[in-house]
Amino acid sequence: MRWSLIAAAICCVLAADQSIAATIIHAGRLIDGRSAEARSQVSIVIDEGKIKQIEAGYSKPREGDTVIDLKDCTVLPGLMDMHTHLIAQHSKESYTEKFFMEQADYALRSTVYARVTLMAGFTTVRDLGDNGVNCVALRKAIEKGWVPGPRIFTSGKSLATTGGHADPTNALRGDYRRDAGPLEGVINGVDDARKAVRQRYKDGADLIKLTATGGILSLAASGHNPQFTEDELKAVVQTAKDYNMTVAVHAHGTEGIKRAVLAGVDSIEHGTFMTDEVIALMKEKGTYWVPTNMAGEWVAEKAKEPGYLPDIVRPKAAAIGPVIRTTFAKAQAAGVKIAFGTDSGVSPHGANAREFELMVAGGMSPMKAIQAATLEASKLLRVEDRLGTVEIGKIADIVAVKGNPLENIKVLQSIAFVMKDGVVAKSP
Ligand SMILES: [Zn+2]
Repeated sequence: MRWSLIAAAICCVLAADQSIAATIIHAGRLIDGRSAEARSQVSIVIDEGKIKQIEAGYSKPREGDTVIDLKDCTVLPGLMDMHTHLIAQHSKESYTEKFFMEQADYALRSTVYARVTLMAGFTTVRDLGDNGVNCVALRKAIEKGWVPGPRIFTSGKSLATTGGHADPTNALRGDYRRDAGPLEGVINGVDDARKAVRQRYKDGADLIKLTATGGILSLAASGHNPQFTEDELKAVVQTAKDYNMTVAVHAHGTEGIKRAVLAGVDSIEHGTFMTDEVIALMKEKGTYWVPTNMAGEWVAEKAKEPGYLPDIVRPKAAAIGPVIRTTFAKAQAAGVKIAFGTDSGVSPHGANAREFELMVAGGMSPMKAIQAATLEASKLLRVEDRLGTVEIGKIADIVAVKGNPLENIKVLQSIAFVMKDGVVAKSP
């Protein structure tokens, strides 16, 4: 009894000490990621990297407290991009750089992209497609504090079938066009599918990404044909479940989307040729859609520029790129679950918030678009218990902008303040 009293007393002293070191954000307006309405004049108390208290009005600091004055800002949860490629950024040299760049070059360059992504207000990303394990190394470097960047959930190398969208030897000359296998993420049949998933687990990946249809930027003829059989998809999903990994699926064509949804995958990326039947199926199955409007816009623009894209890519970019706009308007109105994603690395890193503008142009409310990049993204990542909203007990990932994004969504493209894990990365 006496010991427990002493222990309680020590705890009280510790709690009092901790409260002295608290950080208080005075937020002019708060969009918390969950509520349908913003709140005015709120104080957010942060201690040891977590949100300890949310109070109405501007709380008076106690001695030793740090106050961050964001009274002229809108404060939001750290933004979350569910589709990035930090390993690269598209340019005319993209198709040839792999012959000149070492793995270390890729890893070092990715730290630049990670930094601009964080400074753009994206405190968490789901990275979907590496050329090896560079993004795993980047994730570790950021976790250790060696380089600044967002919290990363990475798929490692994307899975494809032979000649598919993520086959690394597509269209190369004969002696380079080798028969890649599960180690490099190329599978044919259910045994390969299982092995490739287990290899990603061994590599340190957090989730699985596969390319269920052709894609626009790969050096192959079709941008939308199905490239996995039902059995292969099921084998990936079942094996991923064994390792507590989710499955994200690149798919443009209707048949490939449908097969993936029926196999029980967690998200469809792009989903360009989504029909009413597929929309109904995704709603029934609770499958998330990550539309990546920005990627569609970017490839459609580049298709107009003579000589920018290779001859085999250009017609696909011109035909498929613009379709996402009408698909987005239709599917968001129909109520498919949407998580925010940009495919950054196709478009330049750090411009991620442009996606909000395209979502709102496609008919989504600004609040819903913001929730797609906060609460909904945290649900897709299965981290809703610790990320995605400004609520008591959550990790203090907080950003702020001047102005009101509910009135002008474009203000999200000028992030004034970034806090990750309770540490300020950017101030006004
Ligand atoms: Zn992508």
